[in-house]
Amino acid sequence: MDGIVFDIKHFALHDGPGIRQTIFLKGCPLKCWWCHNPESQNPKIESYIKYNKIDDVKVENKVSIGKHYSVNEIINEIEKDIVFFDESNGGVTFSGGEPLLHTNFLKPILSHCNNKNIHTALDTCGYATKEKFLSIIDNIDLYLYDIKFIDNEKHIKYTGVSNELILNNFRLLSKNNKKIIVRLPLIPGINSTDKDIELLINFLKQFNNVNQIDILPYHNISKSKYKRLNIKYKLPDVKEFTSDEIEIIKQKLMNAGFRVENS
Ligand code: SF4
Repeated sequence: MDGIVFDIKHFALHDGPGIRQTIFLKGCPLKCWWCHNPESQNPKIESYIKYNKIDDVKVENKVSIGKHYSVNEIINEIEKDIVFFDESNGGVTFSGGEPLLHTNFLKPILSHCNNKNIHTALDTCGYATKEKFLSIIDNIDLYLYDIKFIDNEKHIKYTGVSNELILNNFRLLSKNNKKIIVRLPLIPGINSTDKDIELLINFLKQFNNVNQIDILPYHNISKSKYKRLNIKYKLPDVKEFTSDEIEIIKQKLMNAGFRVENS
């Protein structure tokens, strides 16, 4: 059994508590217009040509995105950082793409982490079957759960899929008293209107296991990745938020009783 990983970040500080190792699995069922990691979407290994100049000579390099890893290779990678996890109350975060596309690959890795008392977090878009969630539900200590829109028409337009499954899985985790941090990718004028924020607050207020929302403000630094991968960038004219604009939205969420962090 193996999985395709496109990045492993050691000493990550924003993907859960403490010092973490974040493992990025390739493939995502969504196609968000603002995706900062377009290289994560295709479940297969991809490559592109990178040009470098050496002594005024143009040199072509083939760069691969994604690599096959066995379960044991990932476990070995995780074990390298155990001392940092122990010292910081950190652990491992599985991200993507959507890590639940690789549920069977993840299961033995999660069991290993649980046996070794390594904290586990799942950074998920929530778009996976209920059965997949149930199969790992007790192996995950913390869910970093993306909620992009409550309005389903907008969800379909900007991500390519309905949010019905995503919201139902959120209800499932909540019913099982799982610890959840909501992640809100905030895109100017797209999911940041008063109405969008009001709908989000009303949805989240139904649950008593959500007390933190992480705001992930849109930025356009990934434009060049789209060019390299020959994917059309669908938000060429969207401007990044000012810090005051972010603060206004943050205050609304805080006034509704949530702890809010922004990166
Ligand atoms: S869910 Fe995340 S990884 Fe998938 S397309 Fe959307 S932003 Fe990209």
